[in-house]
Amino acid sequence: MTSHIALQGLSDPELLRRQALIGGKWVDAESGARIEVTDPATGAVLGTVPDVSAGQTGQAIAAAEAAFAQWRRTSPAERAKLLMAWHDLMIAATEDLAMILTLEQGKPLAEARGEIAYGASFIKWFAEEARRVEGGIIPAPMTDRRILATKEPVGVSAIITPWNFPNAMITRKVGPALAAGCTVVVKPSEFTPYSALALGVLAERAGIPAGVINIVTGMPAEIGAELTSSPVVRKLSFTGSTRVGSILMGQCAPTVKRLSLELGGNAPFIVFDDADLDAAVEGAIASKFRNGGQTCVCSNRILVQAGIHDAFVERLAERVSSMKVGSGMAADSDIGPMINGAAIDKINAHVQDALDHGASIAARAETPEGQYAAPMVLTGATGDMLLASEETFGPVAPVFRFDTEEEALLLANGTPFGLAAYFFTQDMQRAWRVGEALEFGMVGLNTGAVSMVESPFGGVKQSGLGREGARTGIDEYLETKAFHMAGL
Ligand code: NAD
Repeated sequence: MTSHIALQGLSDPELLRRQALIGGKWVDAESGARIEVTDPATGAVLGTVPDVSAGQTGQAIAAAEAAFAQWRRTSPAERAKLLMAWHDLMIAATEDLAMILTLEQGKPLAEARGEIAYGASFIKWFAEEARRVEGGIIPAPMTDRRILATKEPVGVSAIITPWNFPNAMITRKVGPALAAGCTVVVKPSEFTPYSALALGVLAERAGIPAGVINIVTGMPAEIGAELTSSPVVRKLSFTGSTRVGSILMGQCAPTVKRLSLELGGNAPFIVFDDADLDAAVEGAIASKFRNGGQTCVCSNRILVQAGIHDAFVERLAERVSSMKVGSGMAADSDIGPMINGAAIDKINAHVQDALDHGASIAARAETPEGQYAAPMVLTGATGDMLLASEETFGPVAPVFRFDTEEEALLLANGTPFGLAAYFFTQDMQRAWRVGEALEFGMVGLNTGAVSMVESPFGGVKQSGLGREGARTGIDEYLETKAFHMAGL
C-alpha cells in the first residue's frame, strides 16, 4: 500500500492504520472499495482507507450493542482507569498524532500539537467525571414511598465528526460517551480518517474492550443512513455543518434518537471605542486565524466602532500582511493549506462578492501557489455581502464599521446562527449589558478564545443542540430513570 513519504517518519508507524475497526477487528471493506486520503498541502495521496458499506456499518452497530451489555456494567472507576490509560498514551504519542493530523488536515504542526493536548484533555476530564455521575432521592408525597432518580447510559451512540479538528471533535464525544457507559460507532470525516484510526489503535492498547469503540470509514451518506435509521443506535452526536446536521436530525426522527448537534457559526467580534486596542487586535488574530479560519467559533464578522476603526484596521492589517502561509510541516507557517478546492472556491466567491459590493482589501499576505487562501483584511464590509450571512471558513477578516452599541447588537444578533461571539470593551456596565444581549451559546469578553474543557461548548438557534465538555457534557450520554419504591 502506498504511503506518503513524510508519514514514514512516524516513530510509531503502527499508528497509521488503513483499516476500519469493527468489534475489535481491523477490517477492509467487504467490497474491497477504498477511498483516498490526500495531503492538502501538496495534493499527494497519503494512502487509502476502506469505503465501508451500510452492511458493515450494521456489523459495527451490532458489535457496539454486544459490547454495551458488558461495558455499562463495568464500574465507573474501571472505566475511568481505562480512559486515563488512553489519555496517557495519547499524550505520549503527541508528535506522531500531530504529524498525522497536519498531513491529512493541513494545520501548522504547532497547532496540531495543541489540538492533541486539547483532544486528550476531554478524555482525562471525563475519566474524572465518570466517578461523579450521581442520582438523587426525591421526597415522595406519600409516607410509604421512596423515589430515586438514577442515571443510566443512553446506549449505543453514533458519533459523526468533521475534518477541521480530526482529533478533538472525536474525543469531546467519545470521552463522555464511554465514561457514561455508552459504546460508540465513530464515523470520521472522509478527509481526515487517519487521526481517528490512530485513536482507535491507542484505545485498543489502553485495554478498552473490543466493540466499545468502532470506527467506520467511507462515504458519508450510506454510513449515515444506516447509523441514523438503526433502532439500536439510541443517540447521535454530530459536529459539522448546519445543512448536514438538519438532514441527520430528520433521519433520526423516525426512531426518536437523542441528539447532540454542534453546527455552524457566524461569530461576531465587536470592538467598542473604549477597547484596549492591543488586546482587541490580538483577540482578533486568535479568533479569526486559528486553523486558517476553518473553525466553527472563528470570528466571521469583525464589527468595529467608528472612533477606533482606523487604528484597529491599521494594526490588524500590519499583523495580517506579515503572516506566513505554507505547508503545516514548515516550522514558520502561521497558516496552512485549506482542506480542499471547494473551500478555496467558497473563500474566493466571498471575497469577490464583497469587492463587487464595495469592500476594499486593506491587507493581503503573500501566498504560495496551491491549495492556499491568502490571509486578508477587508474593509467596508456590509450586511448585504455573502460573508455577512455565511461562514467563510478561511483566513479572511471582513471589518464592518458601526456607530452605536444598539447598531452593533442588531448586526451581531442578525443571524440564524448562535455559536460564539466576542466583544472588547473596558466599560463594565457595557460588559454586562452586551454580554447578556448577545444571542450566542459562548461569549468572550476581552478574549478571542472560549474553547477549553472546563467550559460548556455549544450553540443556540441553528448552531445546534446540547453542550459538550464541562461538568454537563456527560449528561448528553445519560438518561434519568425515576425508580418508585412503594409499600415501604
Ligand atoms: P460537514 O457537515 O460537511 O461534515 C461533517 C461530517 O458529516 C463529516 O464526517 C461528513 O462526512 C459527514 N456527513 C456529510 N454528509 C453526511 C450525510 N448525508 N450523512 C451522514 N454524514 C454526513 O461539515 P465539515 O465540512 O466536515 O465541517 C465544517 C463544518 O462543521 C462547519 O460548518 C463548522 O462550523 C462545523 N463545525 C462545528 C463545530 C461545533 O462545535 N459547533 C465544530 C467544528 C466544526
